[in-house]
Amino acid sequence: MIVDAHLHAYRTAAAGRADKDGYPITEYGAKDDVVRSDRDGTVEDALGALAEAGASHAAVLEAFTVPGLPFPEERFWPASPALPEHADALRAGNRWVCDVAARHPELLAFVCAHPAVMTAADTADHVASLGASGVNLHTTGQRVDPDDPGLWPLFELCSDRGLPVVAHCGPDRHGRDFATPAAFAAVARRFPRLPLVLAHLGGGLWRDVPGLAAAWPGLRFDLSEIVSWTGSELGPSAGELAALIRAVGADRVLFGSDFPWYDPAEVAARVRALPGLTAGEVAAILGGNAAELLGLA
Ligand SMILES: [Zn+2]
Repeated sequence: MIVDAHLHAYRTAAAGRADKDGYPITEYGAKDDVVRSDRDGTVEDALGALAEAGASHAAVLEAFTVPGLPFPEERFWPASPALPEHADALRAGNRWVCDVAARHPELLAFVCAHPAVMTAADTADHVASLGASGVNLHTTGQRVDPDDPGLWPLFELCSDRGLPVVAHCGPDRHGRDFATPAAFAAVARRFPRLPLVLAHLGGGLWRDVPGLAAAWPGLRFDLSEIVSWTGSELGPSAGELAALIRAVGADRVLFGSDFPWYDPAEVAARVRALPGLTAGEVAAILGGNAAELLGLA
């Protein structure tokens, strides 16, 4: 069983292409032979890529950002949303991904939240009304601290319902530490029952992950992106990535492609080729762990 726990889809090919082209990946340093997807990232593209990989399900992560958003003046966004005029766009994106999931049972909707555009209470009410499979945050692109009080009722809801929260994790070029592994410790401390999945095994900060994982045994991780950058200047070698997975615990690591940047079939092949993992560990990573987290048969 293969479950892609980290995939993005777009309303149009142009939107997917623009997001791929507009998101330079620098945190791993140089690597000449990164195998990227040729697909644009429409829903049809995603379904084709999943079929090619033999994947039964995928989490479709909706990512809402405000173009040109300033940084919050304090650490957190104010309780009264600074930019409520963007709330309709947030709601529309979340409804779109839920509609897509309703039409395609293999796709699971992960909706987004943003404390700069919606109050904490409205955020929790909005997500509760959607019937989504989980929540996705990209706190660097969103300029949001993961522990922003505007997200606390949402995290409470997700804790109560067992709804996973996937969060981009890695360094940021602004030096604001919006999504570093350390930034999520406060969330793990405050919401010990929250099913929190930190993406990319910490990305360029992968060396910080074993300590975080040991301190917070409830945290999970996905290996998207970083597995496509093994052997890069700053990323782990394939052997170091396998050792990192072992250090965290293979039962806590989920397969993810970060489609449409990479194709799930190619990424799954990279996982199978990691040195030193048992067949059971590979099977858990490729699907078993996500199936359990998402309640899939
Ligand atoms: Zn992603």
